[in-house]
Amino acid sequence: MTLLEISDLYAYHGQLAAISALDLTVEEGQTLAVIGANGAGKSTLLRTIAGVMPAGAGSIRFDGRDITRLPAHHRVAAGIALVPEGRRLFPSLSVEENLLVGGYRRRPGPWNVDRVMELFPWMAQRRRQSAAGLSGGEQQAVAIGRALISNPRLLLLDEVSLGLAPVVVRRIYQVLPEILRAGTTALLVEQDVAQALRVADHVHCLLEGRTVLRGRPGELAREQIERAYFGVD
Ligand code: ATP
Repeated sequence: MTLLEISDLYAYHGQLAAISALDLTVEEGQTLAVIGANGAGKSTLLRTIAGVMPAGAGSIRFDGRDITRLPAHHRVAAGIALVPEGRRLFPSLSVEENLLVGGYRRRPGPWNVDRVMELFPWMAQRRRQSAAGLSGGEQQAVAIGRALISNPRLLLLDEVSLGLAPVVVRRIYQVLPEILRAGTTALLVEQDVAQALRVADHVHCLLEGRTVLRGRPGELAREQIERAYFGVD
C-alpha cells in the first residue's frame, strides 16, 4: 500500500525553488532514503511533508488523503512525525519532559515513554537530567524518541548522523529495525550515502531540488550514484 504520494511538488524559499516538480512515493513498511549534496533540498522536502513549511504547488497525499494544506499539528495527529535537523530539544527540560513534548498530538499505539526507554536503556537512569547535559548522540536519541511518542505511521528523519562519531551513528541506526518492526515507515535524509544505502529499500537522489536518480540500492551502481550526487554528466 502506498502511504505517501507526492506529485509535482514545488517548495520555495523566497524566489528560490528548493524543490521542483518532485514526484515521490513511499510504500507502507518500507524505508526510503533521500540523498543529495548540501543544499539539494532534502530538509526542505521533509519540512514540507511535515507541514512546517508550505508547499508552493503540487500535492502531498498521506494514506490516500490530500494533506497538502493541512496544518502541521494535524499531520502529527494523522501519523507523520519529524526528527528535525539539529535535534531541536528544549535544553532546560529533562530527558523525560523532552520526550513528552512529542505526545501532544499522540495517536494510540505501541510507543510511550517506557517503551522509548527500553529502546535506549541509558535514558531510564537519566530521565530527570536536563537535555543540555547530553552528548550529541544522546540528544539525537531523545529527538527520535520524542517523534516516536506520537506513534507515527511515517517517521521523517533529517540527517540523524550529522556531527556524530561513526560509532554513535551505528548505534543510532541499530535501533531502526526495531522501530520499523513496530509498524513504522521511514523516510530519511542522509548525507552519508553508504549509511543510506545500507538501511534503505529505495533511494532517491536530489540535485538542486530535482530528482536525478532513484532506485533500489542493489540496482544502482556506485559510479551512477556519485555522478547524480555531484551533478556530473
Ligand atoms: P543541507 O544538507 O545543507 O541541509 P539540504 O539538501 O537539506 O541541505 P535545504 O536545506 O532543503 O537542502 O536547502 C535547499 C536550498 O534552499 C538551498 O539552496 C538553501 O540555501 C535554501 N534554503 C534553505 N533554507 C532556507 C531558508 N530558511 N531561507 C532561504 N533559503 C533557504
